[in-house]
Amino acid sequence: MDRFKSSIKPPNEISQESIWFIFLNDGILLLPGIEKSSLPNKYQLEAIHEIIDEFYFLGEHEEKEYYVARLIEEPETDFFEFIRLRKSYYVLEEREFFLAARAFQTLYFHTRNRYCGKCGGKTIIEKNEFARTCTVCSEVFYPQQAPAVIAAVVKDDKILLGRSKRFPVEMYSVLAGFVEPGESLEDCVKREVREEAGIEVKNIQYFGSQTWPFPNSLMIGFTAEWESGEIKIDEEEIVDADWFFHDKLPVIPDTVSIARKLIDNFVETRK
Ligand SMILES: [Zn+2]
Repeated sequence: MDRFKSSIKPPNEISQESIWFIFLNDGILLLPGIEKSSLPNKYQLEAIHEIIDEFYFLGEHEEKEYYVARLIEEPETDFFEFIRLRKSYYVLEEREFFLAARAFQTLYFHTRNRYCGKCGGKTIIEKNEFARTCTVCSEVFYPQQAPAVIAAVVKDDKILLGRSKRFPVEMYSVLAGFVEPGESLEDCVKREVREEAGIEVKNIQYFGSQTWPFPNSLMIGFTAEWESGEIKIDEEEIVDADWFFHDKLPVIPDTVSIARKLIDNFVETRK
């Protein structure tokens, strides 16, 4: 996101060179290339302009304007390819992937806030801020991210990893969970690790954060040390949890995730 200048005010004219994030459900439209796929510009989208639904301006980077739009239906041409947003990390540059995440969440916000949650009236886009206002009761709605903590808990030379019921494969990761109303991030780390694995932790340290557009989480990473307790899993959430040495890790998440960055950090400090 370095030096990306976000804005809600589009220029008067849409440039043919402007870059477009086009979504159909959670698929992102790309131009297949010999070496790598790329994001289309306005000119390249001419053939499908009739099926482009709503669109929004995102901002500028290196004198190029960026937009996000939704498609009404699948294009009939095979000039383009669709890649799931999560997989686009392996196709796009990292900067473009996180811009795609911003684009996806922009679209997500607008389509889920067309009507007021308070009175049911129609909402309209605000001109001067990233928000929508109810035309009936004037309630203002802002984009929201759901904060979730993710924690690497270490005991001696081992890291605590669990296998969630939600994981698609035989994968293990550091424990994570959504922050509850009224809770601090540190409280949440303690509660999640206690609930999911029966472990008490101490020395909770901030590690870093990452937007996670599936659909709108903000992951806040921490490291922590085991304080007491034996592993006792919450069977509603977790299939298995265990302590792992840095050189005997199971299948772990992709490099795109902060989960992986936390695990890699543990491995680095143990070498
Ligand atoms: Zn209202």
